[in-house]
Amino acid sequence: MMLENKIGVIFGVANKRSIAWACAQACAAQGAKLAFTYQADRLKENVEDLAATLDGSMVVQCDVSDQATVDAAFDAIGKKYGKIDFIVHSIAFAPKEALEGEYVATSREAFRTALEISAFSLSQIALAAMPLMTDGGSIVTMSYYGAEKVVMNYNVMGVAKAALEASTRYLAADLGARNIRVNAVSAGPINTLSARGVKNMGSLLSYVGERSPLKRNVTAAEVGSTTMFLVSDLSSGITGETIYVDCGYNIMGI
Ligand code: NDP
Repeated sequence: MMLENKIGVIFGVANKRSIAWACAQACAAQGAKLAFTYQADRLKENVEDLAATLDGSMVVQCDVSDQATVDAAFDAIGKKYGKIDFIVHSIAFAPKEALEGEYVATSREAFRTALEISAFSLSQIALAAMPLMTDGGSIVTMSYYGAEKVVMNYNVMGVAKAALEASTRYLAADLGARNIRVNAVSAGPINTLSARGVKNMGSLLSYVGERSPLKRNVTAAEVGSTTMFLVSDLSSGITGETIYVDCGYNIMGI
């Protein structure tokens, strides 16, 4: 029970395939109590049904493009639990038309939206969580290899993930003195709702599965267990890092 008496907030459960849900299950199995956020009413029931399977959890609305909902969510979480020990930030968004074709054609609006929802939200959430992280804490976000190498159709989301990884380092430097650690997990491709928004995701999964050292794609459960490690005291000396959980794909050259 590595997370006994720990309170976590999980951002980004859309359904049972979500990486955030795998993270939640791994953390709950180690004794954590969890608050879940959902973006809008359309997902409320899904998230409530999943959260109901875990003792002591709560569910609150939080759309990171609306600061008032972020503030209200942390207020409600603070009232129920009195503190936060860790956060799993597992949200990203870019308009569908920006996730196909040429990156050069990305509109100002798509760029702004992708960077705001997928990258700025990490520092926004860290700032809102700080007053409740009174015993230190750990923040984990989800990135992807498209942050550093060109991945066809990933386009502006790759740029957003590069910003997210840089933001992870700057936040780690800012928050370290408060004993709050900030790390990113760079997950290999997984067939989720968001992933299906990237054109030709099926071919990407086969390509990576064939070429990674482990000759398969990573599972959400594997991302979940690494995230559990990163929010636990087992990783107390690690901050500002991007940790690959991708069956080794990133190490391959030709
Ligand atoms: P999901 O679609 O299951 O999760 C994405 C979540 O982001 C959804 O819950 C979504 O809510 C939420 N979200 C989007 N916009 C907002 C917003 N404005 N405010 C609050 N929440 C919002 O997909 P994944 O589990 O795949 O994605 C989780 C994270 O993992 C993302 O950061 C993704 O980029 C990253 N990742 C995914 C990989 C993959 O191959 N699947 C690989 C590497 C990283 P809603 O549905 O309501 O929009």
